[in-house]
Amino acid sequence: MQTQLSKENVDFKKDLEDFLKKSLKGELNLRSLWQELYKNNYIANTNSFLKNILLTETICKLDPGIGLFLLTHFANIEIIKSFGSEDIKNKHLENLISGKEISCFSLTEENAGSDISQIETNAVRNGNKWLINGKKIWASNGSICDLIILFAQTKEKGDKSGITAFLIDSKQKGIEIKESTPKLGIKTTPSNEIILKDVEVDEKNIIGTTGDGVKIALSTITNGRIFCSAQAIGLLNGVLEEAVKHSVKRNQFGKSISDFQAIQWYIADMSKDLDGARLLLYKTAWAKDTNSSELNKLSSMSKSFSTKAAQRHSSNAVQILGGKGLIEDSYVAKAYKDAKVLEIYEGTNEIQQLVIAREIL
Ligand SMILES: Cc1cc2nc3c(=O)[nH]c(=O)nc-3n(C[C@H](O)[C@H](O)[C@H](O)COP(=O)(O)OP(=O)(O)OC[C@H]3O[C@@H](n4cnc5c(N)ncnc54)[C@H](O)[C@@H]3O)c2cc1C
Repeated sequence: MQTQLSKENVDFKKDLEDFLKKSLKGELNLRSLWQELYKNNYIANTNSFLKNILLTETICKLDPGIGLFLLTHFANIEIIKSFGSEDIKNKHLENLISGKEISCFSLTEENAGSDISQIETNAVRNGNKWLINGKKIWASNGSICDLIILFAQTKEKGDKSGITAFLIDSKQKGIEIKESTPKLGIKTTPSNEIILKDVEVDEKNIIGTTGDGVKIALSTITNGRIFCSAQAIGLLNGVLEEAVKHSVKRNQFGKSISDFQAIQWYIADMSKDLDGARLLLYKTAWAKDTNSSELNKLSSMSKSFSTKAAQRHSSNAVQILGGKGLIEDSYVAKAYKDAKVLEIYEGTNEIQQLVIAREIL
């Protein structure tokens, strides 16, 4: 395993950061952003997971909130690549990669969060169609998507689990996508409730086969965790830079606050965790690119390590900036709120502990 990025990847991050500084000016439209990234060859449509991770990290240094949009769409592309039928791939894969179609992933419900087996949305077979009814919550990209990857109970004889994944057109009759749920952080990406009333879906829009839902959901969350880790690392890099910039400039008691050991220790800890988190993330991305059997464990380790570090150090960055760190919408105040959210989605950090321990034991 390499412990350093290749020159090509270092240059990729640098070029992208310059590109983003220009393109992220003005009102942000997530679909247009993806399309611009694609047109300028920043989205890897080859099998380089690492490149898309570097892209996510670089973007999230500027705005961690974009990370949830990216991770959702990237993870969905992986679902279609790995489990979609030839028909689904031919119709949608290129559109998804180019950003012509934007996707959301809709699994969570009121009574089914960490325990996904409890979903109540159900799909009933009617000839070669399925009729879906239920209510979903927290669907990232819900209000901006064209396609929903939706999970429903379909218990039929011989199913491995009772859950099946469907690919659904978001404009389809019977679908109501609510306004984004107001949330603490990661506000750039919408989070929506989706109500389904007698939504008719063709048999050929099943992803995989009936009963494959849990397998598909878990593999998606494994990929999502890697992107979530990249999101946290981008944020951590951003707060470190802000903390360093402020601490060398700010004078109190006749000297720069960076001369105080208390501040130096914060900075040293941030820097250690950023480097450690990055190594773990890149190892995990390489594990994905090489189909390593360690992927599940590594993706949980990487997600929980980097999101915990992001949460701790964004709080410390606010501390270093003092009153300035509390100004609403300042970089560190926003990062502080964004970081907390990262500990919840793509599996809470307690669930990551379970996965890591289970893999080891
Ligand atoms: C911003 C955001 C975006 C999201 N995006 C999506 C999305 O796009 N699609 C989607 O389907 N879902 C999405 N989710 C939902 C997310 O996956 C769930 O919120 C998450 O899995 C936790 O479920 P919960 O909120 O119901 O918490 P709960 O499962 O109720 O957990 C509550 C607490 O109990 C702990 N806990 C639960 N079970 C155990 C256990 N076995 N051992 C130890 N501790 C446990 C948890 O760690 C947590 O601390 C999103 C959530 C948020 C906040």
